[in-house]
Amino acid sequence: MQDMPLKKRNEDKTKRRRLEINNRKTVETIIREHGFSDYRWIKSENIVVAHWVRFKCIFGCTSYGRKGTCPPQVPAVEECRAFFNDYSEAVILRFAHRVDRPEDRVDWSRGISEKLIALERQVFLNGFHKAFMLFMDECRMCSKCTGSREECVRKEVARPGPESLAVDVFSTVRSVGYPIEVLTDYGCEMNRYAFLMVE
Ligand code: SF4
Repeated sequence: MQDMPLKKRNEDKTKRRRLEINNRKTVETIIREHGFSDYRWIKSENIVVAHWVRFKCIFGCTSYGRKGTCPPQVPAVEECRAFFNDYSEAVILRFAHRVDRPEDRVDWSRGISEKLIALERQVFLNGFHKAFMLFMDECRMCSKCTGSREECVRKEVARPGPESLAVDVFSTVRSVGYPIEVLTDYGCEMNRYAFLMVE
C-alpha cells in the first residue's frame, strides 16, 4: 500500500466513495418504495453496544425468557458487538406513534415489522447480501410466541430488536439527531427505531 503512487491511491479512494454513494442511493430508493421516509444513515462503529442494556433485559423486562428473539435466546453481548463490527453502515428508521390503548401497540408493531421484513428482502435481492433488519420492537410476528429460537414458527421472518442485541438505542439515535425520551405513560408519543444493517 505504501508503495502505491499517491495518484493511484486517490483514484481508488474516489472510486470507493462513488460506489458508497451509489449504494446509498439504491438503498434509499428501495426504502422510499416501501413507504418509509424518516430514516438516517449511521456508521456501524457509532452504534453503541453496552452490557447495561442486557442487564435491563434480564432484570425488569417481562419479555425475558418468553420471546424467541429476546434474551436469553440471543448471543452474548460481545458477540453482538462483533456482529455490528461486520458492517460499515446501517440505516436507522424512525417510527413516531401514539396509541389509544396499550394493547393497540401490538397490531401496529406487527404491521410495521411485516413491512420491514419485506424491505430487508428487497434490499437483499438488489445485491446487498448482508442486509439484516432489527425490528423497532420485540418480535411480534405471532400473537403468541413460542419463546424459543428452535421452536419459532416463523423463522424466516423472526428478527431481534436492537435492544435484544444490547444496543443502547437512546445514545445511538441521539448521536444522529433523532429524538427519544423515557415515556411516563402509554398516552405519550413513542419514538421507535428499527435498524437496517447493510453494506
Ligand atoms: S416469529 Fe413468532 S415464534 Fe418466532 S420469535 Fe417471532 S413471535 Fe416468536
